[in-house]
Amino acid sequence: MRKAFICPTKYVQGESELLNLGYFVKTFGDSALLIAHPDDVARVKKQLDITAEKFNITFVESNFVGECSREEVTRLQKVAKKNKSSCTIGLGGGKAIDTAKCVAQGESLIIVPTIAATDAPTSHSAVLYTPDGAFDDYAYFKQSPSVVLIDTKIIAGAPVRFLVSGMGDALSTYFEARATSKAFANVNAGLPCGFREGYCGPAKSTNTALALATLCYQTLMEDGIKAKEACEKNVVTPALENIIEANILLSGLGFESGGLAGAHAIHDGLTILEGTHQYFHGEKVAFGTLAQLVLENASTKELEDVLDFCLAVGLPVCLADIGVDHITDTQLCQVAEKACIPEESIYSMPFPIRKDSVAAAIIAADKIGSSYKAKKQSGGIVC
Ligand SMILES: [Zn+2]
Repeated sequence: MRKAFICPTKYVQGESELLNLGYFVKTFGDSALLIAHPDDVARVKKQLDITAEKFNITFVESNFVGECSREEVTRLQKVAKKNKSSCTIGLGGGKAIDTAKCVAQGESLIIVPTIAATDAPTSHSAVLYTPDGAFDDYAYFKQSPSVVLIDTKIIAGAPVRFLVSGMGDALSTYFEARATSKAFANVNAGLPCGFREGYCGPAKSTNTALALATLCYQTLMEDGIKAKEACEKNVVTPALENIIEANILLSGLGFESGGLAGAHAIHDGLTILEGTHQYFHGEKVAFGTLAQLVLENASTKELEDVLDFCLAVGLPVCLADIGVDHITDTQLCQVAEKACIPEESIYSMPFPIRKDSVAAAIIAADKIGSSYKAKKQSGGIVC
């Protein structure tokens, strides 16, 4: 059986690690194109100045406009060429990181997440949008980032909702990897990078990826609540360090090499509902995870463990928690339809998928989640 695994060349996290950014730039040359939103640059300006001076390197400012579009990528590639940049840095949240991946095209790339809201930093893929912000296409590169550099103090100083959302994204990783493994479905790690000529075919997940996904879930259960409390006080503790690693590294490697399945497909379906737009990716994925567990009829114990975790850290457990107070039958059908388009990861579940069973799982998950939450709030369940 053909199997594949992909990961960044180096992952480093630590307190004040941003001060070492210049060192990593220096391993490529004397200057780096810095792709970051001006607000994020302002947040870390002091550290950037210190590391630039210490390692005698230059950051080429890019005036990044905030959208990962083909036009913006082309413009930034010209800026890099004109300034003879030795490498590319993507600093900040998802858009800056994805744009940097597209500009670098799999070469000499340093990713510096300033929040731990998703598991995108370690991956070899990016999402392109039109200049108006509509979905355009997925892009895959020949390599994952050269360096993923995380300053845990910066993450601890960011709003706690980002960290919790990252836990929502990480929560799905084990269940989706488990389903993918059972189904012998293909994983992103085996996808062609850019050109398809002579493509050697799809690949399945490794035991390694499933083990990382399992550790991801165990870490969330063990350290999630403690990490949230630390982040609320803007301090770095071992629990917060473990959760940053779970949200970014374990979840990132887990999804790319372990596989996506029902949770992310149901998330994608839910995005057609207007009410969900103000909620973060990971928040919707948390509910998608519950819906996947219902779809595969996971054990009551497992479902309750996940519900308890979500309620404890403040992740959504029902549709109302992601801005959907009421859903019509037509809307529900549309959500299920979108979750079940042919290219969706839902077909990595280890059984045949029907739109009506996906719709049923969403409605049942909503009922189970809202009833469980109500019982908890009234003190009806003693743990
Ligand atoms: Zn995700």
